[in-house]
Amino acid sequence: NKTDIGLIGLAVMGENLALNLESRGWHVSVYNRTVPGVEEGVVERFINGRAKGLNIEGFTDLADFVNSIALPRKIMMMVRAGSAVDELMEQLFPYLSPGDILIDGGNSNFEDTNRRVAVAESKGFLFIGSGVSGGEEGALNGASIMPGGSVAAWQEVKPILQSIAAKAPDGTPCCDWVGPAGSGHFVKMIHNGIEYGDMQLIAEAYWVMKRLLDLDNEEMADIFAHWNEGKLRSYLIEITTNILRHKDKAGGYLLDKILDSSGQKGTGKWSVINAMELNMPLGLIATAVFERSLSAQKDLRELASRQFPNKHTQAVYNKPELVKEIYAALYASKLVSYAQGFAVLQKASDSFGWNLDLSSIARMWRGGCIIRSIFLNDIAAAFETEDKPKHLLLAPYFRDEIKGLLPGWKGLVEQAMREELPVPAFSSALNYFYSLVSADLPANMIQAQRDYFGAHTFERKDELRGQFFHENWTGHGGNTKSGTYNV
Ligand code: NDP
Repeated sequence: NKTDIGLIGLAVMGENLALNLESRGWHVSVYNRTVPGVEEGVVERFINGRAKGLNIEGFTDLADFVNSIALPRKIMMMVRAGSAVDELMEQLFPYLSPGDILIDGGNSNFEDTNRRVAVAESKGFLFIGSGVSGGEEGALNGASIMPGGSVAAWQEVKPILQSIAAKAPDGTPCCDWVGPAGSGHFVKMIHNGIEYGDMQLIAEAYWVMKRLLDLDNEEMADIFAHWNEGKLRSYLIEITTNILRHKDKAGGYLLDKILDSSGQKGTGKWSVINAMELNMPLGLIATAVFERSLSAQKDLRELASRQFPNKHTQAVYNKPELVKEIYAALYASKLVSYAQGFAVLQKASDSFGWNLDLSSIARMWRGGCIIRSIFLNDIAAAFETEDKPKHLLLAPYFRDEIKGLLPGWKGLVEQAMREELPVPAFSSALNYFYSLVSADLPANMIQAQRDYFGAHTFERKDELRGQFFHENWTGHGGNTKSGTYNV
């Protein structure tokens, strides 16, 4: 009477995933380490608490836990990302049988997952690194699950993982095979980066409404609620409406009492670092990460604000007109952010040989996860066409959308700049767009400067591409060139 799946790590994600698995008819074994000094009795508390009377078996001995699971074993780890996963794998290996499957559902770095897939396979086991998005609520009722790694494991775990995944509005599970090695965790990382971008964009929209239009929280909530009926319909817009209306026990709007200094746990930063490694622009997410960093410098900003008093005027704008422009800036910048994110996914796919299906990834994000939105349907459709667009903004549908949004978008950035109101993500997106649609950029000047001081060479417009030239700019330099590699 062996169980169908084992789950290790009974913190918020593990506990809720175990309950979700059980509710879908799976017989589940659960285990949490027992370490002196660390909270004890985690397993007992769960088994006698939320899991009471359910088809869930609790274990505090790792060997007993492993032996309780049917072959080939499927063991999902929901523990803290980093060295804990390696330690746990080392502890598990002696008890496993060939063909057993380990699934890491934590927010692991994709390079760690690359390595772990190889280590597990070298020992005759299979390994899946899977992004799981949706927080506590998703873990319990349906998450977006992005598995990648040992492909032979997919058919074994597919019914289980798809059963606990969220369902998109058309009924498809938000879980499908991503690709080999650490691709599942890479996709989850970009998902989180996009989440950073979406949140920053919504925050800027809120700020313009508040500072330039002097709207109160209820009026702003009404606008977001209205947007949530249209093309921007999404989980983050929905919760923004609820947050704006939320009052604390004292009766005031809680949002107005929350300190404007944001934290971050690293997945946004990782997205940007990896985009840089791939030499790909991901400016909107980078801006969102850096704005969180700047927001955290609250004392410095207070000091600086006294020395450069802000000059913006308030409530001098035509409200319906400006709200339309905010909408245009938000929607267009969001398009830019997703275009940048999917371009990084494509580059990673090409560089690492992952053969990612961008349309399938967009479909997996339509439910369960934090960035779920109806707009992902349009992205999935754009990448599904036979003649795949070279860039999301060049897909006919989005190209037409951007053309319609551009006047309002640039109008909004222009007004905000004039009023000295920061809209870093709206303007970063607009600058990216202008650069993207410029056949000519001043990079000729950069190449000339690089060659002038460092003999880094340049290509010429009047010669075939791929030939590199060096000029003796000063007349007294030598002819020795630097290498032409790019990092
Ligand atoms: P935590 O990230 O706080 O991880 C706590 C769990 O890890 C506990 O069960 C803990 O055991 C276990 N653990 C820590 N160190 C070790 C170790 N060395 N050996 C064995 N077990 C260890 O919990 P969450 O539930 O928040 O997250 C689990 C994973 O899911 C993380 O990778 C997280 O990034 C990811 N995730 C979290 C989301 C969220 O919203 N919270 C959303 C999506 C993914 P003990 O009780 O003994 O300390």
